[in-house]
Amino acid sequence: MKIKKIPSPNYSSRDGHQVDMIVIHAISLPPGEFRTGYVLDLFLNRLNPSAHPYFQEIRDLRVSAHYFIDRGGEVIELVDPDQMAWHAGESSFEGRQGCNLFSIGIELEGTPDQPFTERQYRSLMELCLVLMKRYPLISPERIVRHSDIAPGRKKDPGPLFPWERFKDELKREISKKNFSAAEFKESINPSGSKDKF
Ligand SMILES: [Zn+2]
Repeated sequence: MKIKKIPSPNYSSRDGHQVDMIVIHAISLPPGEFRTGYVLDLFLNRLNPSAHPYFQEIRDLRVSAHYFIDRGGEVIELVDPDQMAWHAGESSFEGRQGCNLFSIGIELEGTPDQPFTERQYRSLMELCLVLMKRYPLISPERIVRHSDIAPGRKKDPGPLFPWERFKDELKREISKKNFSAAEFKESINPSGSKDKF
């Protein structure tokens, strides 16, 4: 799939932890506004604090995600998934704290009161399938929402993300013959699979 790379300086080592889950987020800047470019500015530490009153509050944040999917469905890689991005914050999954160490973070450009676009949905589906091939420990059950791993503190991606539909469709895609065939092909040609990123 087509992925544009814009490297963020906000990452660190996974300290040997294996990638075994995906966390789905939503963000928009200023909150509720789309296609402003400010989300990428935030992840690249170049947000102009005087551009909007809200930016004063977040001016010192140092955050990132591995991927950002904009409203048009374009996928941007900010952090190599072999590295740790700073997206989940205080979090836990199945008793393990600090999900950043072992997860991949995907940010959808979105807000709690507006549906995501079909293009975003499609890109997210494709990206998750690609990542599941590259990191076989990621099962459908290990693709979660930020609100699942930081309950009470985080609400994204919000009630309008079609969670059940997404999970059902993901499982259907995985059960298709070509998913395992593609996996096999990539496992005997690991350099070829890297080109996809
Ligand atoms: Zn989040």
